[in-house]
Amino acid sequence: MSMDALTNEQMDELRTALLALRDELSRDLAGSSKAAQPVDLDQPIGRLSRMDAIQQQEMAQATRAGAMLRLKQVETALRRMEKGEFGICLECEDDVGYARLSARPEALLCVNCQQKRESR
Ligand SMILES: [Zn+2]
Repeated sequence: MSMDALTNEQMDELRTALLALRDELSRDLAGSSKAAQPVDLDQPIGRLSRMDAIQQQEMAQATRAGAMLRLKQVETALRRMEKGEFGICLECEDDVGYARLSARPEALLCVNCQQKRESR
């Protein structure tokens, strides 16, 4: 067991955070599904408001895509928790560390691997 391994209390706290995050993201996604629907171009609205509508729809879609990705990460993190693999970096198998996980409980990579991935 390494120095950064999570205590049972930390694990419980992070599980609670993940479950709350999963609920929140699922709720957001359910609520925003209508806003992300394609704009009905046959609707008799002015050109500017049509552009507005398209822009709003694109923003809603981007927000949804982000929420869906995050939800997937949350679900992966919960599955890994069941298998006793939570908090272990997917790439280098180092501990992700409590500091990082308490800010982002769905993090699947340690800081180093995340930075490497982002700089690629
Ligand atoms: Zn790593």
